[in-house]
Amino acid sequence: MEHLLSHICKSCGHTFQGNFCNECGEKVLKPADRSFKRFLKTIFKAATFADSKFFKALWLLIKKPGFISKEFIEGRRVKYYKPLSLFLVLNLAYFFFPVIQLFNASLKTQLLTPLGKFYSVLIAKKAVAMGIDLSSFTLIYNLKTVGLAKLMVMIFVVIASLPLNLLYFKRNRYFTDHVDYMIELVCFNLLLNAIVLTLLAAFTGLGSYLNEIVLTAIFISTNLYFLLRSGIEFYAEKGVRLIFKSLLMIFILKLALEIYRSALFFVTIWSM
Ligand SMILES: [Zn+2]
Repeated sequence: MEHLLSHICKSCGHTFQGNFCNECGEKVLKPADRSFKRFLKTIFKAATFADSKFFKALWLLIKKPGFISKEFIEGRRVKYYKPLSLFLVLNLAYFFFPVIQLFNASLKTQLLTPLGKFYSVLIAKKAVAMGIDLSSFTLIYNLKTVGLAKLMVMIFVVIASLPLNLLYFKRNRYFTDHVDYMIELVCFNLLLNAIVLTLLAAFTGLGSYLNEIVLTAIFISTNLYFLLRSGIEFYAEKGVRLIFKSLLMIFILKLALEIYRSALFFVTIWSM
């Protein structure tokens, strides 16, 4: 009857029965946890990815959009890789080699946005003030902005999730639920439209076809797929309303991306 023994939690001091503290979740350490056998098991798991939660999550992102966030917000959390952890890993992988201009935006990309003309005036002034020419300025800017973009993606997540509070007002979802959902959408984009696309471009001949128009078509169609599938899964929406709301969300995503990119521009310039 070992499990009926009372333990005093080593972390928070709470008295509890069982193997985990019911106040803070701390695990009771047993001698077996510190054995050589357990050590080998842990190493083996890490090296072979036998703990395949991560890869299962990647697969679910593509196969069943909206499922991970639904499970998460409805309280079934231990079976799945946490959406935020997934985001952090994919974010790290993307920004290691951010050639596709999605959440990264080089100076060249920034100058193509609607505010581009205005930006070029600011850039000229700043470059003069720093006493460097435009090519050195571009070099420094692009290095700076990658580091900042990695952190600032969360701005995109929050902005893009705000309209969902109105669109799916009646769906019994709360503020952070929409944020979690948007994190999944960002994970989906980082995986498919950034990492997979970069790998395809690097290792196949497809790279030469990826011009601005093709990329836009890919972004729109994949995101529409995500929004339609997850609209059913996460918001239990259907029919004409689902199609209308998903199309509207495409425009909102585009708008949120523009806002995010201009915020990124000003923060980058300011930090130089
Ligand atoms: Zn505790």
